Amino acid sequence: MKETSRIISQAYKEGRKSLLETEAKTVCMEYGIPVTKFELAKSEEEAVKFANAIGFPTVLKIVSPDIIHKSDIGGVIVGLKNADDVRHGYNQILQNVKKQDPKARIAGVLVQEMAPSSTEVIVGAIKDPQFGPAIMFGLGGVFVEVLKDVTFRVAPITEDDAREMISEVKAYPLLKGYRNTPPSDIDAITNILLSTSRLVTDHLEIKELDLNPVIVYEKGAKTVDARIILE
Ligand code: ADP
Ligand code: MG
Repeated sequence: MKETSRIISQAYKEGRKSLLETEAKTVCMEYGIPVTKFELAKSEEEAVKFANAIGFPTVLKIVSPDIIHKSDIGGVIVGLKNADDVRHGYNQILQNVKKQDPKARIAGVLVQEMAPSSTEVIVGAIKDPQFGPAIMFGLGGVFVEVLKDVTFRVAPITEDDAREMISEVKAYPLLKGYRNTPPSDIDAITNILLSTSRLVTDHLEIKELDLNPVIVYEKGAKTVDARIILE
């Protein structure tokens, strides 16, 4: 709660209504939401140093208060296998951003642990003017974007609510495992939903929250992208 409050006041002080990915993930960590390891690099050398420490393959992402959808402008590169890839990727990302959005302020390039691919889910929160914060759940990709297969509950939610949310989306059978995909860790998703509920009820300044995607494994889950928008 303390660290989150500090991050939110700092953003307001700087006139920002969106948190950087580093800040949003630090908030997640304070609430026990698992995220990929990360370090913010300010130079190519630093990016290589952090990648060596975090391990390969790695992911690089632009961090800018002016950029909300990073991959739209070439601001995300995944699957970098070695130091040379990281050097090249670092410069590529800065070049992409410069071309697409020359005025964007750059906070740095985020070096982060690459989560192995698996089933992707989305956890969100949105504030309704009448009911206050509500929690959203769905499976990632086409399930959310095309089929709108998502479910909502007004926060705070109980553990039973969280489990009900997970089991009521149409794509639920996929979480139980199919073909080569192992069953997903439902307890891990439940905990993320409960933590998200605590976070947005503790901090009513949060207008929108998006953990998209959360990659879910047979054991555990990892949030690879977190976005928080303030009132
Ligand atoms: P955007 O701002 O465009 O939503 P994301 O951080 O979500 O950017 O990155 C885009 C995509 O790249 C994600 O949806 C995910 O598929 C992949 N990705 C991002 N970070 C990681 C990571 N740490 N490990 C594995 N895949 C990742
Ligand atoms: Mg994303």
